[in-house]
Amino acid sequence: MTATHEHLPVWNDAQIKRFVFRHGLFQRRGVEFFAAEKLAESLVLRDYERDDRRICLECDGWQRGGKCFHVTQGTMPNVSPRHEPVMNVLQRCDFFKFSTP
Ligand code: SF4
Repeated sequence: MTATHEHLPVWNDAQIKRFVFRHGLFQRRGVEFFAAEKLAESLVLRDYERDDRRICLECDGWQRGGKCFHVTQGTMPNVSPRHEPVMNVLQRCDFFKFSTP
């Protein structure tokens, strides 16, 4: 994703709070500091534009090692248990659920 916050007016408190949470979450999930910052910034714009696509890295189903809980449990139809979710590509997934603080 290449979007930046340059297209946004000043961030409000809720946007800042979500940015800080995601920046930390992405780092805990293995993304380097500045890459996590850029990714979290791009999601502020995604939310502002009301884009309903999500990334696996912000999903509750994401597991340590980059696996998807639903894939490894075999609850996602027609997906091999060996499939690895794509970390940072906006997409729509019926099993998506936001990770929360
Ligand atoms: S449930 Fe969907 S969005 Fe969430 S980690 Fe798995 S594949 Fe990605």
